[in-house]
Amino acid sequence: MEQVEESASVPAKGEEHFPIRVTTFYNFAPLTEEQLDRWEARFHEFSAATGLRGLIISSVEGLNSTVAGTDTAITELQALIRSIPGFENTVFKDSRALTNPFKRFKVKRRPEIVTLKRPDIAPKKTHHNHLSPAEWERVLREEDDFILIDTRNGYEVEVGKFKGALDPETHSFSEFQEFVEESGIPKEKKVLMYCTGGIRCEKAIFQMQESGYEKVYQLEGGILNYLKHYPNSMFEGECFVFDHRVAVDQDLLPSQTYRLCPHCGDPGSTPVTCPQCGKEAIVCSPCKELRHGTTCSKNCAHHHLR
Ligand SMILES: [Zn+2]
Ligand SMILES: [Zn+2]
Repeated sequence: MEQVEESASVPAKGEEHFPIRVTTFYNFAPLTEEQLDRWEARFHEFSAATGLRGLIISSVEGLNSTVAGTDTAITELQALIRSIPGFENTVFKDSRALTNPFKRFKVKRRPEIVTLKRPDIAPKKTHHNHLSPAEWERVLREEDDFILIDTRNGYEVEVGKFKGALDPETHSFSEFQEFVEESGIPKEKKVLMYCTGGIRCEKAIFQMQESGYEKVYQLEGGILNYLKHYPNSMFEGECFVFDHRVAVDQDLLPSQTYRLCPHCGDPGSTPVTCPQCGKEAIVCSPCKELRHGTTCSKNCAHHHLR
């Protein structure tokens, strides 16, 4: 994982302290190349006018994006996206940040919005497989005959997960298929899956169906959408995110607990005092056990080991 700059010190809790809104969304809705040209130009204009930053992946099969800006900019962007034919019902997952987690704005045209490496089969609107946060909450609380799988990577699951979820301990999503094949989960079993914002489960459902599973469901909008409706309920811990916040807490505010470990780049929550320079730092627990593990940076680790 990429090491990112440390963010400014985190102020006391409360949404008003975090002026930036981050929104993430995807939608499988077909667009022609011509429509894409027009919308991409529109997105660039919009970013220039509002200071919106982040990434929009655009494809003839739809859009996939995480962007950040002021509340006004994000509200307007969501209206703009919903004005695209086929995108009226797009689910947006919002969280807060102190400063914009992105350095610039980019639009990238790709053959697929999720890399399945199977462009012959684009996941269609599989909404019958989507459980709303309310339906999800009901199943977790009232049913017991199902298997719950976290489709994210091991280092994400460590930061927080749903009670009783299976952790496939994958290091990248490409290992998920192998996990399914070796899991021994009976084909007729009801399987519930979730990820951060839902898009990885679109792939996971497709793979499980190819392996013969029929009763596979995903959490609509992922953990971020669930926490908006059910904070401090069936999800335990914090939700890992791929930017300098490292994770967001149950209120979708930046984590006060996790930082990226300066040695390996995984999330960590173990405070240390650097023996080399005396600075306070946060490392991950496996690195803490290493000889240089209590140093604050790669640089101090290098000097410490000499
Ligand atoms: Zn580490
Ligand atoms: Zn140091």
